[in-house]
Amino acid sequence: MPRPKLSDRQRALLLEIVSQPTAPFREHRVAAIVKRTLEEARVPFFEDPAGNIVVGVPSRSAYARLVREKSREPIRLFMAHMDHPGFHGLSWTAADRLKARWHGASPIRRLIGAPVWIAAADGNEVGGRIAAVKLAGSGCGIDTAEIRVDSAPLPRREAKTAFGGFRFRSSAWTSGNRLYARAADDLVGVFALVWTAIDVFSPRKRSSPPFVGLLTRAEEVGFIGAIAHFELGWLARAGRPILCVSLETSRTLPGAKIGRGPVVRLGDRQTVFNPGGTAVLSIVADKTLGKNHQRRIMDAGTCEATAALAFGFPAVGISVPLGNYHNQSIEGGPDSRGPGGPAPEFVDLRDVAGEIALCAALLKAGLPWADPWQALRNRLRKRFAACRPLLDG
Ligand SMILES: [Zn+2]
Repeated sequence: MPRPKLSDRQRALLLEIVSQPTAPFREHRVAAIVKRTLEEARVPFFEDPAGNIVVGVPSRSAYARLVREKSREPIRLFMAHMDHPGFHGLSWTAADRLKARWHGASPIRRLIGAPVWIAAADGNEVGGRIAAVKLAGSGCGIDTAEIRVDSAPLPRREAKTAFGGFRFRSSAWTSGNRLYARAADDLVGVFALVWTAIDVFSPRKRSSPPFVGLLTRAEEVGFIGAIAHFELGWLARAGRPILCVSLETSRTLPGAKIGRGPVVRLGDRQTVFNPGGTAVLSIVADKTLGKNHQRRIMDAGTCEATAALAFGFPAVGISVPLGNYHNQSIEGGPDSRGPGGPAPEFVDLRDVAGEIALCAALLKAGLPWADPWQALRNRLRKRFAACRPLLDG
């Protein structure tokens, strides 16, 4: 089975999205690119009250109509998050010193002198370096940091609207099949969701696919955008099944290797995912990608599938294996500051291509959602029939 490859257009969009500055609660630059791209492709979307982007429907009422439609075809509600761990400015402590609070996980070693980027609200960036840090009590990252800003004269910007993260040679670059980025998690998932929407709404396809995309905010601090969306209650009184599909990048683990294909994520650190939905996802992955996919519980972190499950929705997950998870140099490589220090994240472009192929295949009509176990049951019955004489004897 030939491995899917990204087209030039896909690759360009992926790089554009992954290059945007983002941090928890500061996703507006990613959102702006997403909205422009969806508008150009004539894919409907709107924003929910929390600022999550709902893709595939133009309004709250159209969303409600799609959800309430009587159908046996489940809505596939794809989820990806627009943030990445990073910091918010708090105050200027000197002309060139910004005090900042970190949101989400981060490396905890080799931090002093580490290069960072600092963006203004309009997305314009300057460079800086970490001068001092206070680590969080949890041991999972930085609490606050003092940042020495490189550029002089200092841009006259509000400390509180500034945001940033670790800086490397570039916001994103490729080398062979590798994509290096300061924030692959989860901007790769955002790209996969947006591309799936573009594909599903292309003029040659049907106009009302069983697709909704939810691009969320502030996942890295505890699924805040996803919770806000579920709390709206807009998915209540559904006339059809709803299946949430989390699109994540997750820390590469034994059995989930970078470059061996997207992972049918069986669960995360919190819980296993919906067994029936996962059975269908596995059947689809086998048919679409053959050996070029992997299956594993990705228990190095949690993902939005867990949030969906907690709110009563069946959920499954697709992961792209990620190097240097949350910018911690675990696998090392270019621009790493050494073990445990800051490093760019990386993924394999072929895994991303596989993920997109899987998303498209998951939207096909007639998949065995109502009885995911039929094929397996038939095999079991055959085995039983063959062994029956032995039972009777
Ligand atoms: Zn993530």
